[in-house]
Amino acid sequence: MSETKPTAEIAGAGLAGLAAAAALAQRGWKVRVHEKGRQLREIGAGLYLWENALDAMREIGVYDKVAEVGVRSMTPRALLDHNHSEIELRRPDDVVPELIVVLRTELHRILAECALDHGVEIVTNSRVLGADPEGRLEFESGYGPKADLVIGADGVFSKVRDSLKLATDIIELKDGCGRHLIPRKAGDSLDERRVEMWSGGRRIGMAPASKDHHYVFLCCPESDIAGRTQQPFNLEAWVESHPWYRDYLERLPRHPAEHWRPFYNVHCSSWSKGRVCIIGDAAHGMAPNLGQGACVAMVNGVVLARTLTGAHDVEGALRRWETSERPYILQTQRMSYLYGAVGTRWPRKLLGLRSKILPIIARTDRFRRSLRVALDHRPLLQTTP
Ligand SMILES: Cc1cc2nc3c(=O)[nH]c(=O)nc-3n(C[C@H](O)[C@H](O)[C@H](O)COP(=O)(O)OP(=O)(O)OC[C@H]3O[C@@H](n4cnc5c(N)ncnc54)[C@H](O)[C@@H]3O)c2cc1C
Repeated sequence: MSETKPTAEIAGAGLAGLAAAAALAQRGWKVRVHEKGRQLREIGAGLYLWENALDAMREIGVYDKVAEVGVRSMTPRALLDHNHSEIELRRPDDVVPELIVVLRTELHRILAECALDHGVEIVTNSRVLGADPEGRLEFESGYGPKADLVIGADGVFSKVRDSLKLATDIIELKDGCGRHLIPRKAGDSLDERRVEMWSGGRRIGMAPASKDHHYVFLCCPESDIAGRTQQPFNLEAWVESHPWYRDYLERLPRHPAEHWRPFYNVHCSSWSKGRVCIIGDAAHGMAPNLGQGACVAMVNGVVLARTLTGAHDVEGALRRWETSERPYILQTQRMSYLYGAVGTRWPRKLLGLRSKILPIIARTDRFRRSLRVALDHRPLLQTTP
């Protein structure tokens, strides 16, 4: 590592790239982020921020700002089956994990401001084509300057990852969803408790996400053409499968900002090569069913900054970081997939059986440990190394 300030070049100003940039800059790094978009922006309505991600927000000093704009969820979610009966997955002694539901645009703004306040340079309209393991990003104009560290935080279709041949599989899961915001009204039952309701292969989730908005996600398999039609929004199809939520569904505009998008699982042989590493969806994109993709991405970026700071051997530090963080993230990816498969692909004739056996399986120690793995892996609770 250089004697002067260590330098980092990052591809991608999404949640992962910005969290890592802010954490590195706070630890004395000179950081530049390249974003291919003309402007800094985040798509996708709302986001669940679980307590592991809230540790990361605390570490970079933005927890209070996030809590101010988001909505803290104090009660466990109600999971409802095709008859609108609750499936109880929790044990009576379960502690409700801390959760803040936030508008993505707000979280993105807070992270970008935090990064800029700590001296990070963010270059928009700067498309990265790849990276060289020696520590350089590649652009249309050629290679950029050599840095101590290069990070590919450029999403599921990462050019940095692909240029280094780190991916083993990018799987389109034949399942997906549209994410929307609807106005809140006084007396909404959602204000008391967020819900998720499974009906056939369709899943609705709803939660207050700001003082003015509820966040709504509408998931269904790719083969469900009527359910997938969310731009323009097929109100009739969703009211038919979820009549209990007509009042909320009717608040969705006929032409919402978002449309249905597929989910992907990203599998890699390694998260780094030389001085280059990948984080976030570029490294471990996952189905969003546990609401952990961005949470683990931001935690991973902040842990990366911790691990690298003061390390003289960047490549060795990257290997240590991956060894400690990868197992729990891969387990989260597996459980998120499984949760979606049970919710979406369960045979229609056996829905009653699902409602009966899920509570039994979900309360076993083994299943609970697997489902909670990201909540229980809390590297940022330890004191600064
Ligand atoms: C429906 C849905 C719901 C979800 N809900 C949750 C949730 O509740 N909680 C949760 O934790 N996670 C959730 N997730 C997952 C979460 O959205 C992602 O894991 C997270 O946004 C990934 O962030 P990222 O920064 O790695 O990637 P991205 O958000 O994809 O950001 C990548 C950035 O890199 C830029 N970029 C791309 N290519 C280049 C290039 N070549 N050069 C320069 N810049 C480039 C992009 O423009 C973008 O700004 C959900 C996902 C989906 C699909």
